[in-house]
Amino acid sequence: MATALYRRYRPESFADVIGQEHVTEPLMQALRTGRVNHAYLFSGPRGCGKTTSARILARCLNCEQGPTPEPCGTCQSCVALARGGPGSVDVIEIDAASHGGVDDARDLRERASYGPAQSRFKIYIIDEAHMVTPQGFNALLKIVEEPPEHVKFVFATTEPEKVIGTIRSRTHHYPFRLVPPAKLTAYMERLLESEHVAVQPGVLSFVTRAGGGSVRDSLSVLDQLIAGSGPDGLTYDGAVSLLGFTDGELLDSTVDALAAGDGAATFRQIDKVIESGHDPRRFIEDLLERLRDLIIVAAVPDGVSQVLRGVPEDQLERMRVQQSAFGPGALSRAADIVNTGLTEMTGATAPRLQLELICARILLPGSSGEQGYAARLERLERRLDVGGVPSASGGLGMPSGSATARPPAPTSPPVGPSAGPPAGVSAPARTVSDYTPPSSGVSGGASHAAGGMGGGGRSNVEAVVGRGDSGGKASQPDGHAGPGGPNGPNGPNGPNGPGDAGRVDAARAEAGAPPVVAPPESVGGPSAAASSSAPGTGATGDAPAGSSGGMDTDAIRRAWPNVLGRIFTMRRLTWTFVSQNAQVTSFDGRTLKLGIATAGLTQTFRSGNHADIVRQALIDELGVDAVVDGVHVEAAQQAPVAPPAGAVPAATADPEPSAAGPGPAGPDGAEA
Ligand SMILES: [Zn+2]
Repeated sequence: MATALYRRYRPESFADVIGQEHVTEPLMQALRTGRVNHAYLFSGPRGCGKTTSARILARCLNCEQGPTPEPCGTCQSCVALARGGPGSVDVIEIDAASHGGVDDARDLRERASYGPAQSRFKIYIIDEAHMVTPQGFNALLKIVEEPPEHVKFVFATTEPEKVIGTIRSRTHHYPFRLVPPAKLTAYMERLLESEHVAVQPGVLSFVTRAGGGSVRDSLSVLDQLIAGSGPDGLTYDGAVSLLGFTDGELLDSTVDALAAGDGAATFRQIDKVIESGHDPRRFIEDLLERLRDLIIVAAVPDGVSQVLRGVPEDQLERMRVQQSAFGPGALSRAADIVNTGLTEMTGATAPRLQLELICARILLPGSSGEQGYAARLERLERRLDVGGVPSASGGLGMPSGSATARPPAPTSPPVGPSAGPPAGVSAPARTVSDYTPPSSGVSGGASHAAGGMGGGGRSNVEAVVGRGDSGGKASQPDGHAGPGGPNGPNGPNGPNGPGDAGRVDAARAEAGAPPVVAPPESVGGPSAAASSSAPGTGATGDAPAGSSGGMDTDAIRRAWPNVLGRIFTMRRLTWTFVSQNAQVTSFDGRTLKLGIATAGLTQTFRSGNHADIVRQALIDELGVDAVVDGVHVEAAQQAPVAPPAGAVPAATADPEPSAAGPGPAGPDGAEA
C-alpha cells in the first residue's frame, strides 16, 4: 500500500467531488459558459475538498480542450495535473503558512507578470490563505485587482474572514461544507468495494463520526483500519478499540440503567467505563450521541434506518426498547443534561466525577410524570423525617421564635475524630479539644456501656436533658443550651443502647473497618434512624427560615448524617474529610457553609472537588441544590456541629427505619 487512500482516490474532476455539489455545479456551469473569474476564494472546513477542487479547476482551465468542466484527461496538461502526475510549471501551489510574508508576495507578483510556459493560464493556488500577512496581502492587492490576462488565483482557506476584505471582494467566494455522513458512508462503501475489503455493519458509522465530516480525515481513519485489518476485513470490535469509541454493550447497559432510574447499576457501569480504560469525556459524547439516536428512534418509528444509516438492525431494535423505557420527555431531558454537562466539562480536572454527576442528574426525578411525583414524594418524606418541611415545623415542637434566637450554638463535637486509638486514624483537624470527652466514649465504643457513662460524661448528661425534655430545652439559658441543644443528636445516642451502636459503627468505619452499611439494621438500625431523626425533634428549631423548601440550617444539620452517609457511598476520601473536619455552619437556602477548623484544611476543601460531592449528596438525599462552600471557622466558634459523624454510615443504611422513627419522635418532641 504505497499511498494513502485519500491521495489514491483524490477526485480528478468536479463530478467526482462528493458532497460539494452546491459549489462544483456552479463552477462547472461557469466553465461551460466561459464566465471564468480571475480570482476564487474556496473556504470551508479542512479536508472537505478545497485544494482538490482548486486543482481540478486548474485542470479544467488548462485542458487543451478547455476551458471545460470536464477535462479530457489525455492532453499534456491534463496528464501532468492528473493524480500522481508530475504537475505543471504553470500551476503553482503556495502554502501561505510558510510563504505568506511580504517578500513571498512580492516574489509572486514579479513572476506572475511572465506568461505561462506551456499552458493557457498561469494559476496560483494559495493554500491556507488566511496565513498571508497583512503586508503580504497588500503586496498582492494590485495584481489580484488587475491581473494579467494569463493569471488566475485560487485562494483556499479555512478562515475566509481573515482574508482581507479588499482581496475577498475581488474573488468569487465558494463556501465548501462538511460532507454529510450518508454521502460519506456511501462513498466509502464504494471505495471499500473497489479495494476488496469486507466491512462489518456499524464500522463505517464509526469512521464517519471519527472523521467529523471531513473526507480526508475519514479516509485517513479508514486507511488506518484497513492497514490493521485481517482476513475478516474491518470488524466492529477492531473499530471500537482502535477508534476509542465506546463499546455498544457498555453504552447499552448504561442507557438501560439510566432509563430504569437504577442508580446502583448506573454507577456500576461508570465504574466499568473507567476500569476498561475509556475516556470519560468520550463516553459522555457517545452517551449524548446515543440519546440523540434514541430521540430519533422515538420520533421516526418507521423507516428509522433511513435516518440512522449504518446502524445495524439489531442495534436499532435495542434502541427501540431503550427509547420506550425512557419515554420521550425523560429522553429529551436526559439529552439536555448530558449536553450541558459536556459543555461544562471543558477543562474539568475530574472527568470521572463529572460523568458521575451528569448521570446523577439524569437519575434525579424530572419535574413531571408519574415517576417524578413518586420520587419527589419520596424526597419530601425524607425531609419530613428531618423536620425540614415548613408545614412540619410545627411538628418540631419548637416555638420558632425562641429558637431563632439561638445561634448555631456550640455542640459537643462529634465523637468521631478522636476515635483514634483503635485504628490510628487520628483526628487531624479537630481543634475543639474541650469537647472531646464524648469521644472517649466512642473510642471505647466497643463496649456499649461506656457510651453512656464512660466518655460522654458531660455531653451525654446534657443530652439526656435535652432528650428528656426537648421542649424545655428551647428555654434553656443559652449558655447551657448551646451545647445542650445540638447535643440533642448526641443525647439519644449516649443513653440509648442502640445509639451507641451507631457510634461503634462510626468508630469502626473510622478505624478503617468496612463501612457498616448493612449491619446497622440489625445492630443499631432503628436507633440509627432515631439518632438522626430524634435530634430533629428536640432540635434547636428553625434558624433563619431557609428558603429552600423549608430546609434551614438546623434541618440540614439534622439530616447531616444522612448526607454524610450519601457522601460515604460516593467518595470515601470526601467522606473522611468532611466527617472529620467539616461542620454545618449555616445554610441560607442557597449556600451551605461548612465550617472547617484550619485555614489549610479549608484550602484543601476548596481546591478539591469535595464541594461538588457534598452538593450532589445534598441533591440526592434531600433534593436541596445548594452551593457548598468551606469556610475557615475559628476553633472557638466552630462548635456548631450536627450529629456525630459517627452516625453516618449507619444512618445511610436504611431509609425505612428513619421514616418510621421520626414519626413518633417528632410529635413526641412537640408534645413534650
Ligand atoms: Zn485535457
